[in-house]
Amino acid sequence: MQAEHADAIENPDPDEGHRIEGVTQVNYRIAFEYDPAADALERAETEQVDELADPELLSCSCGVRGMTRAEALSHIEAAGE
Ligand SMILES: [Zn+2]
Repeated sequence: MQAEHADAIENPDPDEGHRIEGVTQVNYRIAFEYDPAADALERAETEQVDELADPELLSCSCGVRGMTRAEALSHIEAAGE
């Protein structure tokens, strides 16, 4: 499995397209106001509490997942794209 992963990183499938991608998230603080008429909490304010940051692990559009930034770099270099 480990060796397979390393092989997929170092030997990109030439029949596939390769684009490095990842998913990240940004946190928001949300303030709520109590609406007594509805007996409910309504979202009142949102404040972004951190900046957009690159994810730790990256994937490739060819299906290789869980790559570090360095692994993703060697993968895309090997793919020649
Ligand atoms: Zn790829």
